[in-house]
Amino acid sequence: MPLAPRLPAPPETLAVLEESYDRVLRRDPGEPEFHQAVHEVLESLGPVLAARPGLATAKLVERVIEPERQIMFRVPWQDDKGEIHVNRGFRVEFNGALGPYKGGLRFHPTVNLGIVKFLGFEQIFKNALTGLGIGGGKGGSDFDPHGRSDEEVMRFCQSFMTELYRHVGEHTDVPAGDIGVGGREIGYLFGQYRRVTNRWEAGMLTGKGALWGGSAGRTEATGYGNVMFTHEMLRRRGEDLDGRQIVVSGSGNVAIYTVEKAQQLGANVITVSDSGGYVVDEKGIDLDLLKHVKEVDRGRVSDYADMRGASARFVPGGRVWDVPADIALPSATQNELDAEAARILVRNGVKAVSEGANMPTTPEAVHIFQDAGVAFGPGKAANAGGVAVSALEMRQNASRAAWSFSRVEEELSAIMTNIHDTCYETAERYGAPGDYVVGANIAGFERVAEAMLAQGLI
Ligand code: NDP
Repeated sequence: MPLAPRLPAPPETLAVLEESYDRVLRRDPGEPEFHQAVHEVLESLGPVLAARPGLATAKLVERVIEPERQIMFRVPWQDDKGEIHVNRGFRVEFNGALGPYKGGLRFHPTVNLGIVKFLGFEQIFKNALTGLGIGGGKGGSDFDPHGRSDEEVMRFCQSFMTELYRHVGEHTDVPAGDIGVGGREIGYLFGQYRRVTNRWEAGMLTGKGALWGGSAGRTEATGYGNVMFTHEMLRRRGEDLDGRQIVVSGSGNVAIYTVEKAQQLGANVITVSDSGGYVVDEKGIDLDLLKHVKEVDRGRVSDYADMRGASARFVPGGRVWDVPADIALPSATQNELDAEAARILVRNGVKAVSEGANMPTTPEAVHIFQDAGVAFGPGKAANAGGVAVSALEMRQNASRAAWSFSRVEEELSAIMTNIHDTCYETAERYGAPGDYVVGANIAGFERVAEAMLAQGLI
């Protein structure tokens, strides 16, 4: 797909961006998600390069799209029947100009180098937006934890960390969770790190348990943060969440705590989903039941529907975007909300869409929302709450402190408001009022570029 600049810029500037993008296509074939993430950022950068030609001379764009380091490794492990499996592990340390590399680990059968690079690239700008001194990285494996026993997951995590430990550390690279990596996996990974290094280094991993260095509020942070960001977008338009009908996709960590915060603010959330289909619950999602099914039983949303009774209906293979709503909060995975779904949502009167997941909205769908005047919150701003509280966890670890839930939530709220305002004001400054995509990309890029320039040719 050719670059379609979001803002006007001189031809020589656009040529720099085109060349950089072509280079990515040429050098990294077979990585469509990475191409998509780069494409989206470069489309916003014209006016920045035009205003500061020094950035082009310093080849800042070319440097930013090239990871500092990419690590791939073999992860052999044995299942409960004694059969041996060989998975592939990844860690991409994308950009450390603002602080230690920071970003989650994803365990899902679709994980490959291109997926990890797209996530790591997004993470650079997201982390910059938090203002908390963290660089961008991401990792994971094509291991599928679904249907595996706790013992199998533990053996896999131990094997994974037996290689990863030499690349990470509290001052180097600090992983966390993502799809397929929650509290259980973080525990096994931390235990193995401690075992092989003989060090209690709490700040080397975030999302830890409360008893052993974790932060209150980390589990809730991404979902809560996205709702806070949505609330800020609505406030700018003189509206709020009270009484709004919301569709949420996914039923994992981000989705569950999106439902929780939205309900606290008076909204009615009527859907959740997984890869098997979705549930629509006319009475509003019963959060206690959802948590029980997903966090205790490790069940499916179809189990939720079975247990909930008459108000809930399971739609196998369907997508939540067919359900009329005021607000849509995609919280499952990349490219889950396409142009067709966007048209349906717009036709049904959606007012705001905000990304809890990373890149869940296709580029065509983003344009459909923005052209229709829908407030659109891009993931690198809207879902930054998770990594922000991870950075607060690192802060607590460094001082051996443990903050209360209410303190963390207050800090999270202030950070999300600040990210919102930064994106909003940056977009206005560059002549694109209300365009949070432009605002997030430019504000994140400017911070990273500044730090890279100051640190010499890195
Ligand atoms: P979880 O593993 O807890 O939950 C993922 C949810 O998404 C599950 O309901 C899963 O369904 C569904 N899902 C995953 N892959 C697919 C797919 N290919 N098709 C349909 N459904 C799918 O992950 P999280 O909630 O942590 O992450 C969700 C999203 O949020 C991801 O994009 C992640 O990168 C992003 N994110 C997460 C952060 C965090 O703090 N956890 C921080 C910032 C962003 P099933 O069980 O059927 O696979």
